[in-house]
Amino acid sequence: MAVLLEVKDLQVSVADREILHGLTLTVNEGEVHAIMGPNGSGKSTLSHVIAGKPGYEVTGGEILFKGENLLEMEPNERAAKGVFLAFQYPVEIPGVATMNFLRTALNSQRKSRGEDELSTPDFLKRVREVSGSLGIPQEMLKRGVNVGFSGGEKKRNEVLQMALFQPSLCILDEMDSGLDIDALRIASEGVNALRAPNRSMVVITHYQRLLDYIVPDVVHVMSKGKVVRSGGKELALELEANGYAQYQEAAA
Ligand code: ADP
Ligand code: MG
Repeated sequence: MAVLLEVKDLQVSVADREILHGLTLTVNEGEVHAIMGPNGSGKSTLSHVIAGKPGYEVTGGEILFKGENLLEMEPNERAAKGVFLAFQYPVEIPGVATMNFLRTALNSQRKSRGEDELSTPDFLKRVREVSGSLGIPQEMLKRGVNVGFSGGEKKRNEVLQMALFQPSLCILDEMDSGLDIDALRIASEGVNALRAPNRSMVVITHYQRLLDYIVPDVVHVMSKGKVVRSGGKELALELEANGYAQYQEAAA
């Protein structure tokens, strides 16, 4: 199985404080990995650094994506190469209709891969198919990106983007936060529909519950800026039963 993402001994600081202290993680093509850990362990920091969000200083280590140095690429280049991050807190973009945002983002990714833009009818057909299956009303797509969306609608909008952009790596940061059980089920079904041999997923959560819906191949425990344990899906159940305290002591 080919390696898709290799994070090696990654050290990251924010405002001169080290948050990730030598984090190592390897994700093969087609695998679904869960990263679990208490609040403040650095899960979102890791996802932001992979996606290229500004404001983080990488002081050591490397990230390879499809064998290439990801840290040298601009965020849009990473997206065009197939990196997608569904944010824990999706940003609102007032004044930019969701539909226009989706189309512009999709076409700019296609363009940088040397592909043709999608025609308007083809684009609309794809958006309608996917939004229909996610229960997203067409009316919502005319509104500003995430403006006035409920928590569940924001997360479904992230899954819609994933389905349209067809990334090879999807990072889902606490997709379950703020979702009721029905919204969680719909969003998870959308994610599961995107599981494919050429697509990997990193599902970040601090509750085991999400992993009942999106069943991972590998589970990692993160504590204090490091991966402190990795195992199969049963590790999530063990965590649910025993909590994170033992790992926090071990990491300290
Ligand atoms: P998690 O997603 O696991 O809850 P985060 O990656 O959000 O953890 O945060 C890890 C640590 O880094 C926390 O102690 C947090 O306060 C700190 N941190 C994250 N972002 C910033 C920032 N922009 N400025 C200062 N500290 C930050
Ligand atoms: Mg977080």
